[in-house]
Amino acid sequence: DDPNLIKVIDRDQEENLMDLWYTENHQDDTKFSIKVQEHIHSEKSEFQQIDFFRSKTFGTFFTLDGYMMVTEKDEFIYHDMITHIPMAVNPSIKKVLIIGGGDGGTAREVLRYPHIEKVDMVEIDERVVRLCQQYLPLTASKLDQDDRLKLHFEDGLKFVQESADGSYDLILVDSTDPIGPGEGLFTVEFYNNCKRVLSDDGILINQHESPYYASYAHEMKRAHSKIKETFPIAKVYQFHMPTYPSGHWLFGFASKKYDPIKDIKADEWHQLGIKTKYYNTDLHIGCFMLPTYVKNELDNA
Ligand code: SAM
Repeated sequence: DDPNLIKVIDRDQEENLMDLWYTENHQDDTKFSIKVQEHIHSEKSEFQQIDFFRSKTFGTFFTLDGYMMVTEKDEFIYHDMITHIPMAVNPSIKKVLIIGGGDGGTAREVLRYPHIEKVDMVEIDERVVRLCQQYLPLTASKLDQDDRLKLHFEDGLKFVQESADGSYDLILVDSTDPIGPGEGLFTVEFYNNCKRVLSDDGILINQHESPYYASYAHEMKRAHSKIKETFPIAKVYQFHMPTYPSGHWLFGFASKKYDPIKDIKADEWHQLGIKTKYYNTDLHIGCFMLPTYVKNELDNA
């Protein structure tokens, strides 16, 4: 009964491809649309419906089950914020686990750090990776080019269950929303396993949805309350994502040891000389300063 599953695209006139729009229902009565120049690819994988489109303003973009995942033009925002926040808190991170992230943008950013020795990327759907390599080559650029990266095509929930204690310094959960295959990645069981497989100075970053629309805010609160139960330090940070519902999106930062603001190693991070288009160390502090209504919701989570 999810309208996005049924209506991935709107055709104003069934026969006229010039009037093709991708539309996502952000609320029952609120839609977000992008005029489509070309519907490049459409298939149903074992796990989800996958569609690739081309547009003037956002370049090539793809959706899973009708939900926007990545666009060529704004992906730098999401991938900067999932990666560089934890890396500036602990620039000596060596072992990284990425859950999901099939487009390759998170792996690309992580692999820019020379000290990183190993990245395991666990993506449930191999078709997402293969299609992104074909249609989003700049995002997927490092997926077959860096010996430090190993791809695993399996469920992230099961992968962390089976991973050894303390085996990673950083876990980045770059998943879909908590419906379909991503659902298990928003459970206490998963967060507990993440805590167990992280080293003592490990960091977990995960999707926290959006505070603005009620249905997304509900998921934000659920994720935060479970992470607060699991980790001694659990903070939320915000960024601006033009193509996600309401444009206001959040990640969670959780750690056994580090406070993301007090423990930032700004000088050490600058010495690495990593150039970023969205992230900087001032923004790092600022993004944890949340609007009052968001703070209130999270305090009551
Ligand atoms: N930036 C995107 C967003 O928030 O919309 C997410 C990008 S990435 C494409 C999300 C990936 O998570 C998808 O390719 C999906 O197949 C993968 N995924 C969902 N559930 C998963 C699971 N349980 N284990 C591993 N990967 C999963």
